[in-house]
Amino acid sequence: MKKRRRPRTCVACKTARPKTELIRVVRSPDGRVYVDLTGRGQGRGAYICSARNCIELAKKKNLISRALKVDVPFEIYEELLQKHKELLQKIDNIGNANQ
Ligand SMILES: [Zn+2]
Repeated sequence: MKKRRRPRTCVACKTARPKTELIRVVRSPDGRVYVDLTGRGQGRGAYICSARNCIELAKKKNLISRALKVDVPFEIYEELLQKHKELLQKIDNIGNANQ
């Protein structure tokens, strides 16, 4: 039997959420850290809400570094804050399309 995947929880608020509401940050096998919007990147992943509060908390406490056990460049958090806006728009669009 296949192991059940652990629920995806935000590194900041520890809330389990649907994948669409989380942003994945990946540490690739070669040690590179990047924001993985496709959710298909190989490597160890950490998830964070697309909520601004969570991103800023993670930035303040360096929570993604802790989750991935690797130094996360400051720019990753900056990128997340940018993606946060884009993602919100995207979720809005998906929501509208389903109505
Ligand atoms: Zn969160």
